[in-house]
Amino acid sequence: MTLKQQIENEAYKLGFSAFGVALAEYDPVGHSKHLSWLGRGYQGSMEYLERGPRRRFDPRVHLPGARSVIACAMNYYSNPEDTPSNPYVSIYARGENYHAVVRDKLEALVGEIKHLAGDFEYRTFVDTSAFAEKAWARKAGIGFIGRNAMLIIPPKKKHNPTAARGSFHFLGVIITDLALEPDSPGIGTCGECSRCIDACPTDAIVDDGIVDSNLCISYHTTQNKDEIPRDIAAAMSNMVFGCDICQLVCPYNSRSVVATEPHLRPDPQIVGCEIDELVNMTERDFDSRFANNSIGEFSFKMFIRNAKIAYTNMRNTLNGNLPKKKA
Ligand code: SF4
Ligand code: SF4
Repeated sequence: MTLKQQIENEAYKLGFSAFGVALAEYDPVGHSKHLSWLGRGYQGSMEYLERGPRRRFDPRVHLPGARSVIACAMNYYSNPEDTPSNPYVSIYARGENYHAVVRDKLEALVGEIKHLAGDFEYRTFVDTSAFAEKAWARKAGIGFIGRNAMLIIPPKKKHNPTAARGSFHFLGVIITDLALEPDSPGIGTCGECSRCIDACPTDAIVDDGIVDSNLCISYHTTQNKDEIPRDIAAAMSNMVFGCDICQLVCPYNSRSVVATEPHLRPDPQIVGCEIDELVNMTERDFDSRFANNSIGEFSFKMFIRNAKIAYTNMRNTLNGNLPKKKA
């Protein structure tokens, strides 16, 4: 068994559902697409995406001498069982803070690799530094980028056969100076499907794989620190943190399986909460309730803003189903 196969097996033992390797070389195509996206202003107020864009597409900027990029995906799906009369929190934010959970798993994988291969240099990334994890996961063969701009793991791909499908996955990356055999980039297609485009309540998917953050509920509820535009606020319906519509309608997610990682199980305080509770929270309540959750990394002020919008929407429409696409 090669070193790479041994590492892959260790990744699955740790709970990752998909694994792949890309060559640690500059990706000019990804860089150019990112610049074009920025050029159209689709990043909204996320100015951090404008800083040092080459860093996202060149592993050697982060680790001189890097030879491989190991990409891992971890299933986070949980069966939503949501009702329109409860506030909606995106599925990814219902368990413990995924940055910490996935980073701990990556560090554990590094420990296992050191047992197998001896010492080596590395850097880990879980959506907190300037590195384009999704693009690198595609290059490492884990999946393809769908029209909804998510990384989609097609069925019958290798990897862990029960959990590796669809887009409800966190991505983690290890840049290393170990030389590992690279995989071919992920292939797959949306075919004639346009369900995510049709279902997006704010028409935020402006082209294949391109989302204009200025129109996206997920961006506004988690990144926008200012007032949320009125038409976006109305489309939020009962959403208080994130939006999963373009993933929930995706046929690749129709057979998603519930994540087995205990730290990613939905917190009953989050999935079972009432909108009145959220609107009336104090900052201290917020800090203690979301201390171990991704929501706790965001500001109390933004969260209460979202909750008040959802409260108004729910009060106005409390026959309220999921948001409807604009006419
Ligand atoms: S997250 Fe919601 S608002 Fe954003 S693109 Fe997907 S469906 Fe549209
Ligand atoms: S809903 Fe359809 S078009 Fe959208 S990402 Fe999924 S397969 Fe592709």
